[in-house]
Amino acid sequence: MLFHLREEIDSGVKAMQALSKLVPEGGLKNLDLVKEEMDELISPEFEPYFSANAALHLLAVCERCGRCCLEEKIIAVSIDDCRRIARHQGLSLKKFMMDYTRPHELKGDLVGSARMLGKKEGEACPFFDSGLPGCRIHSVKPQVCTAALYLTKMNLLTCEEQQKVGTFPICSADEKLRARIADYALRLNEDPAAKGELVRLFDSTRPEVKLFRLLLRLKGMEIYFGRERAAPLAWKLGLARMPEAGEMVEAGFLYAVSMLGEWKDCGKS
Ligand code: SF4
Ligand code: SF4
Repeated sequence: MLFHLREEIDSGVKAMQALSKLVPEGGLKNLDLVKEEMDELISPEFEPYFSANAALHLLAVCERCGRCCLEEKIIAVSIDDCRRIARHQGLSLKKFMMDYTRPHELKGDLVGSARMLGKKEGEACPFFDSGLPGCRIHSVKPQVCTAALYLTKMNLLTCEEQQKVGTFPICSADEKLRARIADYALRLNEDPAAKGELVRLFDSTRPEVKLFRLLLRLKGMEIYFGRERAAPLAWKLGLARMPEAGEMVEAGFLYAVSMLGEWKDCGKS
């Protein structure tokens, strides 16, 4: 069991090292400029909550219980969401927008050209199917549905105010993920050497850790703002492509444990 933990940490480090295949020959380009742009998109005071929630988002598996689809009042859709869903439904963009969306009830720059799905208060989303269960368009659902619940403005504001990454008792996917993280933290408490190694890992300046943290933030931006906002940042960095979620989850789990574990300070020497 104890040996197993060290192996898991080593494996997470190897997963971080493997991300270097995305980096161009000669290293990342325009790094300072991209960091500045990232800071403009999400202010530094929201780190580390933004990245921690990005890691949780990558790890949680929505159980499609339908709570979000039944209870959320506004489901905003960007023009990219509309294009993707229309294609999936075999509809023209115009027909999709006429049949499934309506103007956003908020106005102004923050909303931009976004519209809302045609969901009335107290009714389920038109794409919710209790027989499935859940979303009929799960693979192409709107960005806000993909982002639920971690990378929402409300959650980030709450985390920053409370100075901690909160839980969502309403969400069974979150409950299972927290239980998995708590179980891992318990196992770490039985292995001081592995615990110390993990605590120091994400505080270190090892190149694979720096790269992972940058890519996690970038991935979070893709989830939060959409691919169209994140892809130009990846391009400026010279990345071969955006990292896939599957490439981030192993190290993402270790990062989430390191961020959420109440035990963290005891591991520092
Ligand atoms: S409450 Fe959680 S599991 Fe249920 S639909 Fe929302 S994100 Fe998915
Ligand atoms: S689009 Fe899908 S995930 Fe989003 S609210 Fe509607 S049914 Fe739920």
